[in-house]
Amino acid sequence: MNDKERLDVLVIGGGPGGTPAALALAQAGKRVLLVEAGRGLGGTCLFEGCIPSKIYREVAARRRECARASEFGLLPSGGGDCAIDWSAVQTRRHRILTQRAQAALAKAKSLKGLEVVFGNARLIGPREALIEGAEGRHCVHFEHAILATGSEPNHLPIPGADLPGVLDSAGLIEIGFIPESLVLVGGGPVGVEMAQIFAMLGARVTLLEAMPRILGPVDSMLAELLAERLTADGIGIHTGVTIESIEGTEDRHAIRFSQGGKSQDVRGQVVAIVAGRHPNVSGLGLETTSIRHDRHGVKVDENLQTHEPGIYATGDLVGNPMFAHWATAQAQAVAHHLLGNEVAFPRPEHNSAVIFSYPELGMAGLTEEAAGAAGEDVGIVEYDYRVDARAQISSDASGRLRIVYRRSDRRIVGIHVLVEGAADLMGEAALAVRHGLTLEELTAAIHPHPTLTEAFGLAPLMVH
Ligand SMILES: Cc1cc2nc3c(=O)[nH]c(=O)nc-3n(C[C@H](O)[C@H](O)[C@H](O)COP(=O)(O)OP(=O)(O)OC[C@H]3O[C@@H](n4cnc5c(N)ncnc54)[C@H](O)[C@@H]3O)c2cc1C
Repeated sequence: MNDKERLDVLVIGGGPGGTPAALALAQAGKRVLLVEAGRGLGGTCLFEGCIPSKIYREVAARRRECARASEFGLLPSGGGDCAIDWSAVQTRRHRILTQRAQAALAKAKSLKGLEVVFGNARLIGPREALIEGAEGRHCVHFEHAILATGSEPNHLPIPGADLPGVLDSAGLIEIGFIPESLVLVGGGPVGVEMAQIFAMLGARVTLLEAMPRILGPVDSMLAELLAERLTADGIGIHTGVTIESIEGTEDRHAIRFSQGGKSQDVRGQVVAIVAGRHPNVSGLGLETTSIRHDRHGVKVDENLQTHEPGIYATGDLVGNPMFAHWATAQAQAVAHHLLGNEVAFPRPEHNSAVIFSYPELGMAGLTEEAAGAAGEDVGIVEYDYRVDARAQISSDASGRLRIVYRRSDRRIVGIHVLVEGAADLMGEAALAVRHGLTLEELTAAIHPHPTLTEAFGLAPLMVH
């Protein structure tokens, strides 16, 4: 690309909040430059988030299945647990990540109007950016820009938090061994997922959370049931804690925390701080524009446009909720908006998400608590997966489905599910919430038997 080349759209960040927009715009004939600072297209999600953590979960869950083979009448010839070959796990992780990054790049390269540069982009004014890549520095001029630089792990001001051997989520993903003991600071989705993964892989795990309960914004009954499950599986949970200090050497740490006015110590070979993330605005050159931001993210209007006309922001950079599919939905919406199409921008009350705990916890729309706080008069229908045929067959008969509906018109405003397999139920849940189906419309769909989704048809029958 020549110096001062004029672009229709500059996209900064090749994660789920950037790449889909670049692809959609180039496909529609726009001249687009996508700049990515990392090792490939995919962002946090591919290299240190969604995908690698789920690869580990798959290993952990299969190991667990291995250990309970006899429940199904299977008698493993060697007997006992499956041993773990961590280097084989790493090889498989790298293979999947590389394949996905290469496929994304090949797709980008197949589009005539799209150029991908690996390097850093920095705004140097409302319509200009400086690109620094392997091939040197150059300036581009753009009509529109989409900022999608994602987020970074929070660093807590705890004495000892910067000791070698105290990891963040990216460091934990890269870990070269399964620790004998692991202390996780942060009881959000990442903390809970990692706690169960490493516990299932054989580590002794302790989870420390500052709030009164783990998984704060999640349906409180399901969060409580899941916390009971973690405890039953031997994970030590301490809530309402203040971390006072971390001391130790690279592979032996003591974490001092206070809980209810009492100081205690917990020891761990590895400590990981996974206490949330903050939007990544560093080095973006926002000060050369009218774009405003604070610690929650870049400020945008209902069309995701920043205070600088023509510059948009998507994904983690805009703040919560921080999910890959949410970032992608925003990226698609901005792309179609720039193409002049009528767009319904994604709304948080329609979002869905999965915590890949064991069992999985899926959510779409509002919780009972959030709906109440928004002034809605809501009722709940529940289904207990202990009585469910499919759950019994797979020997995972525990958990609950909770459907939140507005009493006045019986329209569904939220669906929350705790059951192993919940992740793949959330498409139907998201559809019901997005289109405000009534309880009757949900039951009118014929759900196949025996499946976990039957519960969606059965639960509403309880309310007349
Ligand atoms: C451990 C973990 C597990 C997760 N699991 C899930 C999950 O199961 N499901 C889910 O939906 N979400 C999950 N997430 C969240 C998900 O990864 C993020 O919400 C998602 O990646 C956000 O996409 P994004 O495009 O906004 O940002 P990112 O994916 O962070 O992408 C931003 C990109 O911008 C690039 N960049 C930054 N600055 C510049 C610059 N100046 N110039 C050029 N490029 C730049 C970065 O290199 C990066 O590639 C997880 C996160 C973590 C940490």
